[in-house]
Amino acid sequence: MLLANARLPHCPTPVDVAIEHGRIAAITPAAGRSGLDLGGALLLPSFVDGHVHLDKTLWGLPWRPNSGAPTVRERIAFERTHRRTLPPVSERGANLLRQMIACGTTALRTHTDIDDAYGLANFHATMELKQLFAAQADIQVVAFPQSGILTRPGVAELLAEALRQGADFVGGLDPASIDGDAKGHLDIVFGLAQRFDRGIDIHLHDRDAAGNAQLRDIAARTIAIGMQHRVTVSHAFSLGTADESDFAHTADALAAAGVHILTSSPSAGIVPPVLALRARGVVIHAGSDNIRDLWNALGTGDMLERALIIALKQGFRSDPDIETALALCTDAEALGLPAHRLVVGASADLVALDAETPGEAVALRPVRKLVMKGGVILAREGRYIAR
Ligand SMILES: [Zn+2]
Repeated sequence: MLLANARLPHCPTPVDVAIEHGRIAAITPAAGRSGLDLGGALLLPSFVDGHVHLDKTLWGLPWRPNSGAPTVRERIAFERTHRRTLPPVSERGANLLRQMIACGTTALRTHTDIDDAYGLANFHATMELKQLFAAQADIQVVAFPQSGILTRPGVAELLAEALRQGADFVGGLDPASIDGDAKGHLDIVFGLAQRFDRGIDIHLHDRDAAGNAQLRDIAARTIAIGMQHRVTVSHAFSLGTADESDFAHTADALAAAGVHILTSSPSAGIVPPVLALRARGVVIHAGSDNIRDLWNALGTGDMLERALIIALKQGFRSDPDIETALALCTDAEALGLPAHRLVVGASADLVALDAETPGEAVALRPVRKLVMKGGVILAREGRYIAR
């Protein structure tokens, strides 16, 4: 296949991109060859959503008013009450996957709720989606204890069973504030990771010094069991602290341990500072988190929109900074996957859209003319066409 008359970021002259066996085989100056004419569209690496909840979404259903519960604990309770009325995960999750792919995402990590009310039902449905969409998206599944571990008898055993059945990561949730025993919670999570040789991805909403102390504990535990670059902390709001020395101390511990930070950049409250963390060597990448579900009525699964939200929240104005926001949304390596790159030899995982530069793509979020994974076209003109 030849993608003719396309443009690469920071390259003013149009190029032709030859694709063979799913990989970029050659990139040459455009020469009027016959192929799929992209009309000078900009190519970007396909997007990576590092944190989503496929099993929670209401995507494709009639609009459902959200209660807007103010705390994490109240949102958990609201979801546990209303979830039984929803259609199956297989339907809702597939709706969202098609939407995400149409927007240009071809790799994602989804947290799937495992608790005493639902057992492994959400996990099994999510694993089926992973299999069904395997050719279209690299999907990592996190066994996520949404209602806690220690406070919910039987959940630790359910997490172990999910890992035995193929979950890619073990999750955790606010070890101190939800389970009330940071050490006990982390002992279980790190113990399971070691026992099954899987990575870790922990939701940590706790703010201020208490949150940063847990981050340093997680960093120390990561080094202790040799899991550098296999542990992610999602949200980590405490890194937005105004205490410079606490920030520096914590960021250095995360960098030394190769603990990655995932941000969805919520509009309210403090968030991890992207540039300051990168300057200290911490890997920070991005995800959507809740997309139109019982936690949050908003979200579209479009990682260009996520890049814009990050840029706005971080106060980014320059093109290099806006491109950094976009880089957080294409970082497959942060998930332990092969990098998404527009170079010869790389897998042909790419997006084409009408924009002059990556900065303009983030600013205007134009329709995706083409979405491709492994040389296979998944979406055209914003529409999912893969199946
Ligand atoms: Zn989440």
